[in-house]
Amino acid sequence: MTILGAGASGLSTAITLARNDIDVQVFEKEAHAGGRFKYDFQCLRTFEKGQSDPLQEFKQLGIMIKPYKKIQRIIRLSRSYSFEVVSAKTPLYYLVSRGKNHTSLDSQLTRQALQYGVDIVYNSNVKHETIDIIATGPPKADSIGYGEIYEDAHIDDTVYVFLDTQYSPHGYLCILPGENPGEAEIMNGTCDPTLDMHTLKSLYERALQDNEVLRRILDGATRKSVQSGIGCYTLVDSPYINSQYYVGEAAGLQDASAFFGIRYAVISGYLAASSILTGTEYARLITQTFGNQLNFERKRSEVFKTVTNERLDKMFQSIVQQFGHELTVEEYDSLRGSGV
Ligand SMILES: Cc1cc2nc3c(=O)[nH]c(=O)nc-3n(C[C@H](O)[C@H](O)[C@H](O)COP(=O)(O)OP(=O)(O)OC[C@H]3O[C@@H](n4cnc5c(N)ncnc54)[C@H](O)[C@@H]3O)c2cc1C
Repeated sequence: MTILGAGASGLSTAITLARNDIDVQVFEKEAHAGGRFKYDFQCLRTFEKGQSDPLQEFKQLGIMIKPYKKIQRIIRLSRSYSFEVVSAKTPLYYLVSRGKNHTSLDSQLTRQALQYGVDIVYNSNVKHETIDIIATGPPKADSIGYGEIYEDAHIDDTVYVFLDTQYSPHGYLCILPGENPGEAEIMNGTCDPTLDMHTLKSLYERALQDNEVLRRILDGATRKSVQSGIGCYTLVDSPYINSQYYVGEAAGLQDASAFFGIRYAVISGYLAASSILTGTEYARLITQTFGNQLNFERKRSEVFKTVTNERLDKMFQSIVQQFGHELTVEEYDSLRGSGV
């Protein structure tokens, strides 16, 4: 079997097939796995309704991923209000790095794939038409993100999420701790079709100047690198077409409201491999596994598109009145879908 793209979905497919004694060759256009990421920090969410711990899910599928950090506190901020979600026991997010570093999700998956005998060809230039599984990531930009990594930042094991439509229309800005002490990444993401990367970057820069919380965290910090990128949540008409399987973002599998796609990528890769191994219809597996989640996220994304700062402030204020400043995961989960 041949796979185009050595990212989260392509490698997950490769591991599952090779573990079942299928010969697999992966073609990656860049010089390393996770080729579109230079060095990036990403979240795996654990607390969404009906969703179980993603690392446990992956483990059950035979895909092992070790995060560099577990997050048990998220601070969410509108312009004038904020509340915290705190989980005493289980993590709210797992953090993983992406790119060519040894500890990244991509490197971890590569090592597993190689153990099972997968052949990975880098710097390749193979045509789509000749390939069995398309795992090339987003074919178009429904969402865009601009981010920077800093060192010597003052950040603890907390993720901050800012909802302010002036800086992040149809999206959000977040800051999360990096892999090494003092490292932090700020990312501004949007699905506003009128914004290009240049404008998003200027909004990001303005947010850094205007936002007191960010200024405090970055006081004395130095910018280390930039990571920008696109995301695609337009679903393909069929994930199996012309005898080719589409996995991950190549199939349009992405959370349209948070722009998350790692879970979709790893699991859809596994499902495509299962379909090949068992003959079960791939499109049906995708709908059964992700249908409800995709619908929920698409509805939530519509809320993001119409919400104003005034409305966000009102929602945040009423949450604080109802629950206080610190919410449990269950309390926060009961509000999901409202746009906060
Ligand atoms: C800046 C940014 C931050 C993000 N943060 C998060 C997050 O916090 N949490 C989360 O869950 N998701 C996040 N995502 C989304 C997540 O990265 C993707 O959804 C996930 O990586 C999709 O997996 P994939 O396998 O479809 O694509 P990728 O992991 O991107 O893999 C695609 C691979 O295919 C290769 N490729 C592309 N074209 C070709 C070709 N023609 N020939 C050969 N190889 C090719 C690429 O180089 C790459 O290695 C983020 C995305 C971006 C851009």
